[in-house]
Amino acid sequence: MAKLYFRYSAMNAGKSTALIQVAHNYEENGRRVALYTAAIDHRFGVGMIASRIGPRREAKTFDAALDFFDEMSKMRDIACVLIDEAQFLSPEQVRELHRGAHLLNVPVICYGIRTDFLGEPFPGSIYLLGLADSVEELKNICSCGRKATMNPRFDSAGKRIRTGEQVAIEGDVEYRPMCARCFYGGDA
Ligand SMILES: [Zn+2]
Repeated sequence: MAKLYFRYSAMNAGKSTALIQVAHNYEENGRRVALYTAAIDHRFGVGMIASRIGPRREAKTFDAALDFFDEMSKMRDIACVLIDEAQFLSPEQVRELHRGAHLLNVPVICYGIRTDFLGEPFPGSIYLLGLADSVEELKNICSCGRKATMNPRFDSAGKRIRTGEQVAIEGDVEYRPMCARCFYGGDA
């Protein structure tokens, strides 16, 4: 039977690259996949999954209004559903994807981060950690060499931003993968 997978990491660990590789592997074997990314992610244009090292793929976008179970029910000949920026799924959508994987027998693989720039969990990621049949960490390192688990936000001058909205992926900010010790002001 198909499963719901959650593959998480800190920022810049190659999630989009991994997703595009999985899509390629299916297609190389003559099977079709359905790709989704969050409508609020405009880093590379609406409806595009782009890895930082080059490869990119067009994708459908999702916002909170999309019913994923309904969406999956209408799919024909789709071997796998791949979702980037999965932290932006709503708890309801994670439930829909879980039901879809098990009742419609289509595997769903979600890629995302667990916590925001303040270390607060994304609601979608809480549900993915709770419901996914398989949870896997894609590892990345902090500049200090320890494993990165946090996603602090910086402005264009490189100054740490400690206030603001959870979603600020447009505009002049960047995220860096960081270990918890550096995140909390250790010996960074
Ligand atoms: Zn560190």
